[in-house]
This record gives sequence, structure tokens and C-alpha cells, in this order.
Amino acid sequence: MGLSKAAMSGIARDLIALGVLHETETVQGQGRPSILLDLHPEGAFFVGISLLEDPAPLVLSDFNGNILARQTMPLSRDPGVIAGLIADALPKLLSGRKDAKRKLYGLGVALSGFVDERQANCVQSTLLGWQDVPLAQIISQKCGIDTFIENDAKAVAVSEKLFGSARDVQNFSVVSFDDGIGCAHFIGGKLYRGNHGGAGEIAHCTIEPGGSPCRCGKRGCLDTVASLKAIREMAKAEGLSCHSIEDLETEAARGNAAAVRVLHRAGNALGLAIAHLIQFNDPGMILIAHVEGRFDGLFGTVMRQTAEANVLPRYAGQTPIRTHRVDRDVWARGAASIAAHNFLIGPTPN
Ligand SMILES: [Zn+2]
Repeated sequence: MGLSKAAMSGIARDLIALGVLHETETVQGQGRPSILLDLHPEGAFFVGISLLEDPAPLVLSDFNGNILARQTMPLSRDPGVIAGLIADALPKLLSGRKDAKRKLYGLGVALSGFVDERQANCVQSTLLGWQDVPLAQIISQKCGIDTFIENDAKAVAVSEKLFGSARDVQNFSVVSFDDGIGCAHFIGGKLYRGNHGGAGEIAHCTIEPGGSPCRCGKRGCLDTVASLKAIREMAKAEGLSCHSIEDLETEAARGNAAAVRVLHRAGNALGLAIAHLIQFNDPGMILIAHVEGRFDGLFGTVMRQTAEANVLPRYAGQTPIRTHRVDRDVWARGAASIAAHNFLIGPTPN
């Protein structure tokens, strides 16, 4: 920053007085001891809302991404109704913290669909039935809070970059593994959006040409083979009474050939998609954030083996594939991190 130590100390003093920074530990280096500073967790608060499920969760997050309070509201497809429901839910969400209202610096919304680079308009959402909806403006006018919206998987990637295990990684992809599969990339330390906001939509990469029909209208997409929903449906078609990967792993360990087949097919498909990600972008890490599911059994082993076997030998074993179990708050927390990112760093353009 080109600032002298004295100028830096002055700025730090002001920020401490404002409650944005706080002093942590004293470290003894060369010369005088230094006091380490960190963001004060209660220096700013953010609200995150997920429009991916009904009821829709709202969370209050602090400056470190910790969730302090949660509420739910009914999900609506009407943007005006959504804004009204948020306005109604806010007082209760903020009521547990006396200064939360004063230090509320932004509101984020995560949704399924394409969002423009200003994080203001929903360009298209099949789930919500929207086309060019200026949701951020509608909510901020109703609630009087700066509002930013983002695609669900991109919101999770921003959350991992700001608060999670990708803090020090410049190039990485997050794969969100749930009933559908989402993905988002950070390239050169920045969220990569693509030309239409659709970068990372690996759910609809063709993995089995001519395979099962997908909700998008194509056939053989990754989502039709490897998503949790697809895995449950494949298990049912095989006549298995398994409702989760956990059940399938138990059956497979007992030698049930049908369970082995389902886990193999799904693990193979996800592994191929991850091999493509590695081959395209050469990331420093692939992070699989999963709400449910296990990756320490046959499914995870097949996924890793397939990924390794389908990249150039020089990449094989070079890209860590980490799995990270997340709770149901992952989407709302991601939404709050979009607001935090805008407050701290500014928008996330290409
Ligand atoms: Zn598809």
C-alpha cells in the first residue's frame, strides 16, 4: 500500500475505534513486539437468503461468516411478494443482536439460475420461472438495504473464498453436490462468470451420450447420472430400497451387485466431469461441498480413480480433490457472503 508504519498505525487506530478491527495476540518479532489485528466479528452484519427451498431460510451472519440467527419464510415466485416477506422477517431475525440493525451492511440472495455481472438481475431461472427480473432493486427498495443476488453455486464458491477452505487458493472450482450438481470457478483470485453468467454449469455437460432425458431437454447430462436425485432414482430402478448413498454403500459392502452398479455408474460420471474441470482449468483445488452423501466408500473411490485416469499424466495426482460436508445453511450462508464480499472488496466482476 506504500504507507508508512505510522500512517498504518493511525488507520488501524481509527478502524479499531469504529469497531471494524480488533487486536488479537502480540507476537515477538525482530525489534518491538507487534500486535496482530483481525476483523472484528461484530464489526458488520449481513443477511443471506436462499430461494432454493420452501420454506426459504434467512440467516444473520457476522463479519467472519458465522451464523448468528435464522428464520424461514414461505417461498414465492413473485419478486414483490418475496421482498415483502423479507421485510416482514427481518425484525425478528435481527432482534437477538442489539446493534445488528445499525451494522447491517448488506443482504444477499442465492437462487438457481443465471445472474448478471452486477449481481442485480436474474437473467433466467427455470426453477423460479423468471426472465430478466431486477430482484436486487425490488428488495432494496422495499427493505432499504443494499442487496446483491447470485447463482447458488457461485455464492458457495464466494463463501469458501472469503471464509472457508479456499481462502489462500487463487484458482479453484467448487462442486456443490445435492439433488442437483452445481459448480463455480475462481480464476486468478476472481469469480469467473463467463459471457452469460453460465460458467460452471457442469450439471448439463453430456456424460452419457444418448442417455436418460434431463429436465433441461437434453439427454445424458451429469445431473441424470450423478446427482443425489439421480442416484436415488437409479437405485429404485434397480429394485433397491436405498434412499441415500449411505444405504447404497452398506448394500455394496455386503456384495449387492445392483448397489455396486449404481455407485460405480454415478462415481464414474462425477469423476469424468471432474477430470474435464481439471483438464480445462488446471485448478489448484477441487472442493466438493456436499449436503448429504459420503465420499469415503465405493462412490468416492470410483470418482477419484476416474478423475485420475482421465487427465493427462502430468496432472494426475496434482490436483487435490477435497470433500467437505456442509449443513443445510450452506446456500443462505453463501448468499450472506455475497453481501459481505461487496462490502469488503466490491463486486465480483470478471
Ligand atoms: Zn441437462
